[in-house]
Amino acid sequence: MRKYIVAGNWKMNNDLPQTEVLISNLKKQTQNSNAEVMIAPTYTSLWHAFEALRQSNVEVIAQNMHFAENGAYTGEVSAAMLKSVGIKTVILGHSERRAYFNETDELLAKKVNAALDHNMRVIFCFGEELADRKSGNHQQVVETQIIKALFHLEAAAFGNIVLAYEPVWAIGTGETASPEQAQDMHAFIRKTLVRKYGNDVANSVSILYGGSVKPNNAKEIFSKPDVDGGLIGGAALNAEDFYAIVNAF
Ligand code: PEP
Repeated sequence: MRKYIVAGNWKMNNDLPQTEVLISNLKKQTQNSNAEVMIAPTYTSLWHAFEALRQSNVEVIAQNMHFAENGAYTGEVSAAMLKSVGIKTVILGHSERRAYFNETDELLAKKVNAALDHNMRVIFCFGEELADRKSGNHQQVVETQIIKALFHLEAAAFGNIVLAYEPVWAIGTGETASPEQAQDMHAFIRKTLVRKYGNDVANSVSILYGGSVKPNNAKEIFSKPDVDGGLIGGAALNAEDFYAIVNAF
């Protein structure tokens, strides 16, 4: 059975004192769903968050990493460094990384390999721009992103891959894909996996939806059969809203 996952991406928000406050608020929430819960604070808060949530069922994950083991890559952080502070899952390919830091699918393939080499789980993000959706090209764009960054992998590697479909036009805009648009795309993604890896792999990979998921729309989106959870940005910065989404499962 596929895992249900709700992951909060804090982006470049929350310094250490603010991280302490948000984590303490998260700890006051109760969970009534069977979703795995994850939060992705910024690098400088990872160790604190990991320690503070060690005894909880919230996994602390990273927002990004470099593909190299170590070396002259000023400002970057490696998989081994993340693992050394307890991190076992990393988000790769977020649209903000693609747009502002020129991350391509070729580069992301290297990052995916590095994470898997370290036995980390990857939440791989992709999604079309508004122009692609308007021109009817959205499925082709998404298929190309997946093929370029992931289809060099062996089937077994997909045990450590979670997919996150995030239409760029829905991220941080307040505009959400309709539950039907999300379901159509998730079903298409699963079919793309079936063609390359067969039914067993395709049916075992969790596909999350991301893009302005809020407490008032989460239930409808999560009710779709191929939507296995959410990657949450803005609403993850408020503990009550985040758990309202977690509990929408
Ligand atoms: C995201 O950053 O992955 C995201 C989905 O953001 P938001 O929920 O704010 O649209």
